[in-house]
Order: sequence, then structure tokens, then C-alpha cells
Amino acid sequence: MPALTFDNAFVRDLPGDAESGPRRREVVGALHSAVEPTPVAQPRLVAHSPEVAAMLGLDEAWIASPAFAEVFAGNALLPGMQASAANYGGHQFGHWAGQLGDGRAISLGEAIGVDGRRLELQLKGAGPTPYSRGADGRAVMRSSIREFLCSEAMHHLGIPTTRALSLVATGEHVVRDMFYDGRPQAEPGAIVCRVAPSFVRFGSFELPSSRGDTALLARLVDFTIARDFPHLADVEADVTARRSRWFAEVCERTTVLVAHWMRVGFVHGVLNTDNLSILGLTIDYGPYGWIDAFDPDWTPNTTDRERRRYRFGQQPPIAYWNLSRLAQALAPLFDDVAPLQAGLAQFVATYEAQDARDTAAKLGLAECRDDDLERMQALRALLHAGEVDMTLFFRALGEIEPSDATPAHFVDACYDDARRASIEAPLADWLEAYAARRAEDPLDVSARRTLMRATNPRYVLRNWLAQEAIDRAAQGDESGIHDLLDVMRHPYDDQPGRERFAARRPEWARNRAGCSMLSCSS
Ligand code: AMP
Ligand code: MG
Repeated sequence: MPALTFDNAFVRDLPGDAESGPRRREVVGALHSAVEPTPVAQPRLVAHSPEVAAMLGLDEAWIASPAFAEVFAGNALLPGMQASAANYGGHQFGHWAGQLGDGRAISLGEAIGVDGRRLELQLKGAGPTPYSRGADGRAVMRSSIREFLCSEAMHHLGIPTTRALSLVATGEHVVRDMFYDGRPQAEPGAIVCRVAPSFVRFGSFELPSSRGDTALLARLVDFTIARDFPHLADVEADVTARRSRWFAEVCERTTVLVAHWMRVGFVHGVLNTDNLSILGLTIDYGPYGWIDAFDPDWTPNTTDRERRRYRFGQQPPIAYWNLSRLAQALAPLFDDVAPLQAGLAQFVATYEAQDARDTAAKLGLAECRDDDLERMQALRALLHAGEVDMTLFFRALGEIEPSDATPAHFVDACYDDARRASIEAPLADWLEAYAARRAEDPLDVSARRTLMRATNPRYVLRNWLAQEAIDRAAQGDESGIHDLLDVMRHPYDDQPGRERFAARRPEWARNRAGCSMLSCSS
């Protein structure tokens, strides 16, 4: 058995529900409910992250033993674990949805990692909780593979995210109507153990605020600052100043997060306020997707297909909208809302600065001038019109000196011959202007290449790659999951022999469910 130490501050220091167990209910005046995972028939470990295991000090022999799968399927608790579901609300697709809570996630407790940092362990798909509403509390294998792989891929891209320790098959079936078209099917179930310093969301603050429970709201804010932002507790003695600094930092972290997503072409898919982490982590991997052919209007989420609220290009303003909802929820704690307004204004300034840095880095320039922002905008319009792969294009751009580049250099990044031909002349002009700009830039050839390689990944968890691993796993071959986990460990490096993982989307995946179309049914 592993020597894990737990310090379950959230359930110890914040008010809990008087009732325990999974009976569905409104929970008022409390931020969590005691509820144990529902055991599953036949837990079997499918994959784990060695890096996360090492952070927890878990040894590989124990991970390979049946006992590990039992614990991380929710069939057994280790000493010190305290199972609970968190209570929170949220704005879903622009509308206040009231109490939501962990409907299928159960926290096992806050482990203390080998470096002393807090790592809460949470099972997603562990069975019903008071917050399951009409649903079963379970998760299917296809979505669990996607969450497991993408959490780790995101981390290795250097983007803040919840992590994933393990992916366990339950040996049970779960019934899902994948496209809400009245054709439910039994699918294999799975459980992912997610890991993060905190799973508190914007919606965690919105719920007590919406109920007028300012005392509970204040307790949660001050708890969050003390536990997760200790550097603020040290610098500000005054409680209002401290809360103001904290909100500003939440704005800052959220901005940085969204700028990263825009840099690498990640579309979260469901940016409801219950899916925004107070730590600025990517959280709740559902119908997310990666941009293949550049298109700011693309969303992978079929549930959002009509209005496309959460489309790629809309993510920065949506993050701002969500921060505004958080500010509104926090307002009862402030006599004067100026600090909240200042935090929001900071979002805009920080985003612009970050976007300028990323623009320069993506183009391999030492600094970003105003005309470079226009240059990037013009390039994006060309990539969109020409149906050009975002990841492949930027990577290829860094591999050649602009003075040598012609549109022919990018043929492999294009999906359609006619669309490619339609941008050939303007792309040639763009490259010529870019070469002139490059001539004014101080970076030498190798510094430029290093900067661009570190900014424009070679490997991202393309939708079709994840789907291929899912299809193979359904046929009994889980090696695709392990291969992807391994490739995505070094997304910025060329990995000879692994070119197919960097290839553009194959034609079969263009309109295939799971590749370009995903629903919230998971
Ligand atoms: P999501 O869109 O995945 O963030 O989920 C929104 C809300 O629905 C959260 O409160 C989830 O816990 C809940 N939920 C989603 N799927 C299930 C499920 N299968 N069983 C219970 N609750 C669920
Ligand atoms: Mg959620």
C-alpha cells in the first residue's frame, strides 16, 4: 500500500451537508456532501501517467497491482481518504442554471505530493451523488480516453490544466444517446482519476452568492486565498485589499490560459462558468477539439452548433464574460466595485500583451510591432480561406527562412486543391512582405527556429488521432492510447518515425462523429 498523506482541507474547513449519500437534492448552506463512489464490477487499469504517479510518490509495482485499480475505480478507499462531492452552480450557455455540483465526480481527498504540494484526487464517473440530477453519475470509455490523454497532452504543451493519474475500465456498461436522436446504446464505462491543487470553479462562488448567502461566499473566498493563493495572504493584511488582489490574479490566470488555447488551436467546447477553474487550469474535458483547417468559427460541440457560442475565435470574449459573472457573484463582498472593474480591465490589457508576445513568437520575431498584428490577422484570413492546417502551417513556417519560402512549401498543410489555389497569389505576397519584415528582425537563423519550435507545436492531440485510439481500444487494442500518451510528452520536438502523429486530418475524419462532431453526452 502506498504511503499517501492526506490533508482534506476543503471538507474539514468549509461547511458540509448534514445528510450524506447520493439522494438527489438541493443542498443549501453547504459546499460539499459526503458520498462514496459506487463500486464497479471489474476494475482494470488501462493507462496511467507515470509523471503524475511520481508527483504522488506512487511506485510502479503498486500501480500494476489489482489494488490500484480497485482504489481508482472507487471500490476501496485508502486510509486518509474522505469521499465527497462539491456543490456549485453555473451559467450554462449564457443562462443561470442554479445548483449543478459534482454530478459524477467524487473527490477522494487532498493528497500531499512528494514536493509538499497539494494534489486533490477526484474520480470522474464514480457513480451518483446528490448533484447527479436525472443522470447516472457514470462516464463512457470514449470520453474518458479523451480526458485522460488531453489532460496530459495539455500539460506537456506547457498549458495549465488538471492532470490525469489513471484511466480504469469498470467492466460495466453505460447507456448513452450520443447524438440525442433517440438511439441510446450501451457503451463500456470508465473512470479517470483527475488531479489538481483545487477543483474550485467560478460556479462555486456563484451558487452561494445567488442564494444571498454572503457569509458562505466570504468563507469560500478566504479559504481559497489561504489554501491556493498563499502568496496573497502574506502580502495583504487588509481583507478587502487581499480579495481585490486575488480577483485580479484570477483574471490574469484566466487570460493567460485562453491565450495559450488560441496559440495552439484548442477549443474547449463548453465554457460554462462551472467549467472555469479558479486556478486558471483547463478543466472538464468534454466535447473539446483541436483546430485542423484554420477556422475561427469552428466548434466541435454539436450541442452548440446553432449559436456557436463557444467557437474557437470566441473564447477570449467568453472568458471575459465568465469573469464578469464571477465579479458579479463577488460584488456583495465589496463596498466599492472598483477593484472588480479594475480586474476585468486588466483582462483586456493582459490579453493584448499576451497576444502580442504570441504573435511575435509564432512568426519568429524578436518583438511585435503594430503591423505584425495586422500581418497575423491577414495570415489568419488566408489560412481560413485556403483551408490550411494551423499546426502544420506554423510549424512549416519556422523550418524555412522567409526569403526562401513560397506557397509550394505549404502544400502538405492544405486540405483542398481548389481552396489552396485560391490563396496562392495572396500567400506569395504575404510571404514576400514577411521576408522583408524578417530582414529587419535581429534574431539569427537558429534563434528564430528555436523560438518558433518552442511556440508552434509539432504534435497536438488531433481529434482524429484520439478517435483512432478510441476505435482501436473498442476492438481490444489499447496500444493506441499508450502511443499517444508517449508522443504527446514532447509536443514541440520532432520525433523521427512518428510523422503520422503530426499528419493532417485524413479524409475519413472530415465529418466523422468524434472527430469533428462531439456532443455533451459522455
Ligand atoms: P459538464 O457539461 O460535463 O461540465 O456537466 C455539467 C453538469 O452535469 C455537472 O454538474 C456534471 O456533474 C453533470 N453531469 C454531466 N454528466 C453527468 C452524468 N453522467 N451523471 C451525473 N451528472 C452529470
Ligand atoms: Mg463541468
